[in-house]
Amino acid sequence: MASHIVGYPRMGPKRELKFALESFWDGKSTAEDLQKVAADLRSSIWKQMSDAGIKYIPSNTFSFYDQVLDTTAMLGAVPDRYGYTGGEIGHEIYFSMARGNATLPAMEMTKWFDTNYHFIVPELGPNTKFSYGSHKAVSEYKDAKALGVDTVPVLIGPVTYLLLSKPAKGVQKSFSPLSLLPNVLPVYKEVIAELKEAGASWIQFDEPTLVLDLDAQKLEAFTLAYGELESSFSGLNVLIETYFADVPAAAYKTLTSLSGVSGFGFDLVRGAKTLDLIKSDFPANKYLFAGVVDGRNIWANDLAASLSILGSLEAIVGKDKLVVSTSCSLLHTAVDLINETKLDHEIKSWLAFAAQKIVEVDGLAKALGGQKNEAYFSANAAAQASRRTSPRVTNEEVQKAAAGLKGSDHRRATNVSARLDAQQKKLNLPILPTTTIGSFPQTIELRRVRREYKANKISEEDYVRAIREEISKVVKLQEELDIDVLVHGEPERNDMVEYFGEQLSGFAFSANGWVQSYGSRCVKPPIIYGDVSRPKPMTVFWSTMAQSMTQRPMKGMLTGPVTILNWSFVRNDQPRFETCYQIALAIQREVEDLEASGITVIQIDEAALREGLPLRKSEQAFYLDWAVHSFRITNCSVKDTTQIHTHMCYSNFNDIIHSIIDMDADVITIENSRSDEKLLSVFREGVKYGAGIGPGVYDIHSPRIPSTEEIADRVKKMLAVLETNILWVNPDCGLKTRKYPEVTPALTAMVSAAKLLRAQL
Ligand code: GLN
Ligand code: ZN
Repeated sequence: MASHIVGYPRMGPKRELKFALESFWDGKSTAEDLQKVAADLRSSIWKQMSDAGIKYIPSNTFSFYDQVLDTTAMLGAVPDRYGYTGGEIGHEIYFSMARGNATLPAMEMTKWFDTNYHFIVPELGPNTKFSYGSHKAVSEYKDAKALGVDTVPVLIGPVTYLLLSKPAKGVQKSFSPLSLLPNVLPVYKEVIAELKEAGASWIQFDEPTLVLDLDAQKLEAFTLAYGELESSFSGLNVLIETYFADVPAAAYKTLTSLSGVSGFGFDLVRGAKTLDLIKSDFPANKYLFAGVVDGRNIWANDLAASLSILGSLEAIVGKDKLVVSTSCSLLHTAVDLINETKLDHEIKSWLAFAAQKIVEVDGLAKALGGQKNEAYFSANAAAQASRRTSPRVTNEEVQKAAAGLKGSDHRRATNVSARLDAQQKKLNLPILPTTTIGSFPQTIELRRVRREYKANKISEEDYVRAIREEISKVVKLQEELDIDVLVHGEPERNDMVEYFGEQLSGFAFSANGWVQSYGSRCVKPPIIYGDVSRPKPMTVFWSTMAQSMTQRPMKGMLTGPVTILNWSFVRNDQPRFETCYQIALAIQREVEDLEASGITVIQIDEAALREGLPLRKSEQAFYLDWAVHSFRITNCSVKDTTQIHTHMCYSNFNDIIHSIIDMDADVITIENSRSDEKLLSVFREGVKYGAGIGPGVYDIHSPRIPSTEEIADRVKKMLAVLETNILWVNPDCGLKTRKYPEVTPALTAMVSAAKLLRAQL
């Protein structure tokens, strides 16, 4: 029985690629140094998979930045401004597209489906010239072959590539990149021919857009593309791989009707519905790549359950046509559990990172082939059983409280305009009140203090003194700037999710469980393994300390349940919404404690609410319903006079505006400055909005300091569509990545813009 891996993390078990890239970008090492690190990483991954016994081992899933950008390079589709004149694309142009250079900005980056990975969006137009610009796929194939590993080169399929592209600047918005299909296929043919020549016997085309809601015309593009490529496929086996959700029935029909293709890959973890389609109709003599090992999470596979699914598939497609696989590329999970020396033995036995998932895939394939490793399977069964029954996982009280949520909507008793009136009586704020989103610049010194405290190198007393000093500095600065609603600056927080996860029960933290987010950037999501509860107050100490330093309102600062959920590895033994409700109850306790300690404004950040939106429209309403409900649970019990803020880092939510209103926060601050028009158009179209709103007035992602006039202009534009008395003035997001010489003048300009307008109104 054969085994296959869709793709593998490139960063390395200890983020070796990250450090090599950053050192190269800083000019501290040479291109050769970088190449060497990359080559070592690739060969160790291939060797690992081949030693494990994997039959279909991927190549070309390595990348210096991003696989979509690699495809842009392969197709020579470099936007004009980067000055590409033909030939093999080198580091300079490649990294300029990825990160910008001294004179040119980078290309746009966006989320890869519903993952936290970001890709570089191709910019195409009717005049884009395609030419074979990067031989990376072929050279990686050859490198592996030289090491004795025959791999399956992986290419992003032509239709997915075009569907993920956007019209280049200056090209009409209505231009459809998909119309360029006939122009990209010749380059694909060249690549295929060269791979064949080099000895490849299989090629994998990733076409994950097949899991989206595609119309008939887009589906037709798959038929056209693979029909056109069919002649190049002779003598080759071709796999079309899908992932991240089930394949809708129409897409499944299109896909499985492609005659030149030898096999189809499906995500059977997130896309369990595809199982029914396979069972009702799978083409004869085609390979089924069954993605039963989860590439999006860190849990050990339930091998017995997978084996039974595989058994039923074997009965349909036959022994020699079933291939055991991962649900998607392992890029989206952590790399290797072996480096987790701090996790306790029990939790570790429940986990599998990429390296362990390879062993799972192989173990399942062998078991199907009649060579079951009994010891391995029974250890797995024991770990599954221990996870099911561990008292660390189940907390009866939490289960009961969460079950008790049903049947109530958890809405505040009074409507938002009456609440705003009550709050205004108490807070007495000027019109166009000013505030910031939470964090202030994080200095090296602050990071050192936190690190040393964590490592027990400085006493609690010293730590508290250092943080208190920082808070006091930030409070003073805000008073000098004359900001109306203050923040404490979040100096005690490393990360807005980790900070809360560390204080909640049911969370574990890895030492090296990094996942690539974009380029060299990685995140280390907390692991939610058990019922979530809050043993004691988490923020009250710091918030009340900060409030005691000023007469002005000090915002209590919390991360919301949906964001904590979406930025963690979440347990897979109960629905996501149940975990979310548990977190909501924990945050509710914190809100109550903050209120009881005299905090009158509480911000509950839901930076990642939109991120969790399911890919398929049919599933979105359900998600939004429980996500918004979870948010309301956190604050439904506060007094009218307590003002609840929320913050979102995403401006693109025109489609979910009604859900945002349904969150029923008193004030929402949102990112806006990079896309003014988008947000304003919602209100121009007459959406009724009565709560406070603070569309960010300047971009905190850039070091550029805005002028008073431009901020005032921006606010005026907003005033044209929003009532004066609900508008707030604030930056786009937290200031932690900026430096004081940028923050102080920018906030000065912001406050003077607000004052200027107040005088005019
Ligand atoms: N309160 C957080 C901060 O200011 C919010 C961060 C975010 O939205 N990503 O840093
Ligand atoms: Zn933000």
